Amino acid sequence: MIRWFGLLLWLPALAWAQAIGGYAAGCQLNAQALPASGPGFYVIRSARERFYGQPPLIDYLQNLGIKARQAELPPMLVADIAKQRGGPFEYGHRSHQTGLDADIWLRSPPAQPSPQRLENITAVDMVDHDNYILSRHFRDQQRQLIALAAQDKRVSRIFVHPLIKDAMCKAYGEADWLGRLRPWFGHSSHFHVRLHCPPGNKQCQPQAAVASGTGCGRELASWLNDKTGAISSGARAPFRPTLPTRCVGWVR
Ligand SMILES: [Zn+2]
Repeated sequence: MIRWFGLLLWLPALAWAQAIGGYAAGCQLNAQALPASGPGFYVIRSARERFYGQPPLIDYLQNLGIKARQAELPPMLVADIAKQRGGPFEYGHRSHQTGLDADIWLRSPPAQPSPQRLENITAVDMVDHDNYILSRHFRDQQRQLIALAAQDKRVSRIFVHPLIKDAMCKAYGEADWLGRLRPWFGHSSHFHVRLHCPPGNKQCQPQAAVASGTGCGRELASWLNDKTGAISSGARAPFRPTLPTRCVGWVR
């Protein structure tokens, strides 16, 4: 009886969790906090309070931590997810608004990951930008983590530096999940996971599906030839985007 009662309390909580609007103009209801640490992961820079996400994303991250541990990889470092109610960040990236985006750093955790160390941790660049090659820090451990991250079907896309995408193409050939790895600016010290809109989230605006195929051919080549970053990312969304009505007055 008591167990059933518990379930009744729990079900509406899940039903009410929702991603509203688009990845770069939206908010979230009933977000869940990713615990500060768990099997195979640590949250870094938690003072920013950007560790809230939709239940499927929290589940995805915890699951990825477990898979990383099973593969004997070092614990992954989870950085920005979203604010508790979502919406735009005061500084930093423009997406991460609906609780479906998460940044995962590619460097290894510090040997003694005290809360203070995890708070003040610095990023390690996987790209030698002067020579436009991967740096010595990008090794099999990073490749394996990105591969594990991309294999989950809840993933819409993962943004990585073009050189990292290239390395993944060379390592994994024709794997169908390679198509989810999207070359993008930045993303040389972390990768950015974006999940699909969760089923039943009617106000969540999906992004167009990625083209079929691995994306390792001509499209990637155009990025690799664009070492100076001349490929336009298109018109940038305003820093204060127009939010869906449901989000107005909700986000802080
Ligand atoms: Zn990001």
